[in-house]
Amino acid sequence: MTELPARRLLLVHAHPDDESINNGATMAKYAAEGAHVTLVTCTLGEEGEVIPADLAHLAPDREDLLGPHRIGELAAAMKELGVTDHRFLGGPGRYRDSGMMGAEQNERPGSFWSADLDEAAAHLVAVVREIRPQVLVTYDPDGGYGHPDHIQAHRVAQRAAELAAEPAFRRDLGEPHTIEKIYWNRVPRTVVEDRFRRLAETLDATPFTVAAVVADVPGVTDDERITTEIDGRPYVDRKAAAMRAHATQVDVTADGTVFALSNDLAQPLFDIEYYELVRGEPGSAREKDLFEGVNA
Ligand SMILES: [Zn+2]
Repeated sequence: MTELPARRLLLVHAHPDDESINNGATMAKYAAEGAHVTLVTCTLGEEGEVIPADLAHLAPDREDLLGPHRIGELAAAMKELGVTDHRFLGGPGRYRDSGMMGAEQNERPGSFWSADLDEAAAHLVAVVREIRPQVLVTYDPDGGYGHPDHIQAHRVAQRAAELAAEPAFRRDLGEPHTIEKIYWNRVPRTVVEDRFRRLAETLDATPFTVAAVVADVPGVTDDERITTEIDGRPYVDRKAAAMRAHATQVDVTADGTVFALSNDLAQPLFDIEYYELVRGEPGSAREKDLFEGVNA
């Protein structure tokens, strides 16, 4: 194995853009500090809705070329964050975006939702055993907001963490490795409520006319479940730039404080990113670093 930095962080996401929206500041921070940051994206996001009118022809019901286009958007976003190790689960196009819950695309052959769990997890086990991360970041069991690909990304990440540590599992995929800490992406409810209150006061200064509501934000949870917060303020410009790179999916204001998805509903762009530790011991009562207490 080639020599890797002492601190190694793995993030597992469903579609290109999820990483920048959820963890953009965290990824930029650890990359800047010299940690090895690995992103595994499970689908190409082929079923996304396209915001710019001049790119509407890429849509799945037209040319169906959104997937390859989003490979390029993700690469541009990773450049903004300084992340060089980004991969697609099983290779680009191995698993297709399953669309929203209940859509007929859920059951289509090749959809991520219809994937065999252990087979999908084995692709990730190979990455875990190669990179040997101390920290894994993924979604909560609901995928943050119930999207099938987000739920499946959670299941695959958790299953891969289990299988990667299992000595009897697929030694052809590398030496067993136990991930010390697993985090789920979260946002504390009071913070979200406060940011939406402030957004309501400044909405006139944005290009958007209607704001989203708290329930539109993935991963919102009771404040007491939050174990960890990453102060991403020094990196929030990079996060905003990475989100802008996903131009078919995200519209970010010039000042980088507000964004909207294809529904055109304004949302606050978080400069502090929050996590719930679900495996491993917290390094302190309110962690400020995902690697706190890790034996690097
Ligand atoms: Zn997504």
